[in-house]
Amino acid sequence: MQITGYKSHGVAASVALVNAATSADGDDSEEALRDLLREHGFFWHQFEPRHAESFREWGRTLRRFFEATELTTAVDLLNRLLLQIPMHPHLADHDDPVGLHMHYAPPSADLPHRFRATTLMNLSELVCKHGLSRTGVCAAEGCDRVYADTSRAGRRRFCSESCANRTNVAAFRARQRET
Ligand SMILES: [Zn+2]
Ligand SMILES: [Zn+2]
Repeated sequence: MQITGYKSHGVAASVALVNAATSADGDDSEEALRDLLREHGFFWHQFEPRHAESFREWGRTLRRFFEATELTTAVDLLNRLLLQIPMHPHLADHDDPVGLHMHYAPPSADLPHRFRATTLMNLSELVCKHGLSRTGVCAAEGCDRVYADTSRAGRRRFCSESCANRTNVAAFRARQRET
């Protein structure tokens, strides 16, 4: 997946968490959650086992966003969550080479709270820019994983190359059978 830079790392992290916590082949063990945080540039070393359930619950909550087919449904959900998650934007500079960037949760917030704030803000920004055209549930048969497309073209409909290929091969065979 192409990510449009650090500012939207919360979008990719949302996808990873939703898939870990809610998809049939997802792994939301403490180990997997810690890896996920590390891969997406969060303070993974602050992860504690007692945080695991709040991450899983957040994954289940965000799945409803990816499943939304109407913009109003997604906007209502995001707005409700934006009111629920206390925000306190401030500038942070802790991490070369990223440099100065925004944090959304209060500085005193714990890791799950900061993760919720960042993912929520980044998904909201994505929706303001692209509506629901960049997010969804994988179009491959039998796959329940979600995706977000932050590439320039924005034509993705699958969670992965393998799902895209599998679907294309199936469609090709179906056409062959018809002729
Ligand atoms: Zn930061
Ligand atoms: Zn898929």
